[in-house]
Amino acid sequence: MKRPGHVEAGRVERGVNVPQSYRLARRDSRGERTVVHLRNGATFGGEEIAICAGPCGVESSEQLDETARSVADAGANVLRGGAYKPRTSPYSFQGLGEEALKMLRDAGDRYGLGVVTEVLDPRDVELVTKYADMLQIGTRNMQNFPLLREVGATRMPVLLKRGLSATVQEWLLAAEYVLLGGNESVVLCERGVRSFDVATRNLLDISVVPLLEDLTHLPVIVDPSHAMGIARLVPPIAVAAIAAGAHGLLIEVHPDPPNALSDGAQSLDCAQFRELMRRLSPVAEFAGRRLPRRKPSGDGVANAGYRGSAAGEESASTAHSEVRSSSSGVKLA
Ligand code: PEP
Ligand code: MN
Repeated sequence: MKRPGHVEAGRVERGVNVPQSYRLARRDSRGERTVVHLRNGATFGGEEIAICAGPCGVESSEQLDETARSVADAGANVLRGGAYKPRTSPYSFQGLGEEALKMLRDAGDRYGLGVVTEVLDPRDVELVTKYADMLQIGTRNMQNFPLLREVGATRMPVLLKRGLSATVQEWLLAAEYVLLGGNESVVLCERGVRSFDVATRNLLDISVVPLLEDLTHLPVIVDPSHAMGIARLVPPIAVAAIAAGAHGLLIEVHPDPPNALSDGAQSLDCAQFRELMRRLSPVAEFAGRRLPRRKPSGDGVANAGYRGSAAGEESASTAHSEVRSSSSGVKLA
């Protein structure tokens, strides 16, 4: 039986110990840039940027609901939240697992938000795809090749964070693992790399945003929260990322940052997030893009849920994403 993520032998170089360059991820492997779509309408790589916001970790349904309502109301279109947390210490909060996945799905549907959440273990991929709209591969797992192969065997969009000290080549080769499995919906996320200086949590390499535009057809977004580690620095760096051409942002938002179970120091509170969204609007325009369009809602809640609704809609199993590509033959969005 073919194992998930199995790679055709003919596509693998033998007896060569220098890494072969990325082939599927490179800019000229496709006529058009990839646009990754989530079922709620969020896009990565198009004219409309994606704003992913939410807590580092899902702590309770109340915490998540309050955050989701507030970020949706401020104009975000994707809810982020960790159910499985990759913590440096085994004694730190590890996440609520499947219970958190259910809360994410419920809150996402309630407020019309897509759901992105991290998957840490290849054995959890199947479970996480039941609840999420996008699978996050965290920085510590960027070169977890069995995990990359496993998500490559799904057709769910993947948010691939840059490794702690990964070169651009290593990062694109990690994306190549996912693409080679047949999953064309990959979004790259710059979240800062380790540097000699500990003044900020990481060093944000903003130059990769325009650089990747030349090297790959894949969209790139920026996570200023993990890059900075300090909430006050998040808004100016978010603004800089959009001005530099990023296709979206990943921002940690918590209703009560001082009491967050993880990453409170870098989390914006709901009011700070709202203010950031206000600042981003003209910057997106300056970059030739726009913030997510709000859908009208009848019940005072931003965007109605979309799962299991009207007849004629795409089924849950087929509608995770569509990739715009002129050469791969996949459905044009
Ligand atoms: C996160 O998004 O909460 C996270 C752990 O990010 P990173 O993998 O970039 O550290
Ligand atoms: Mn975090």
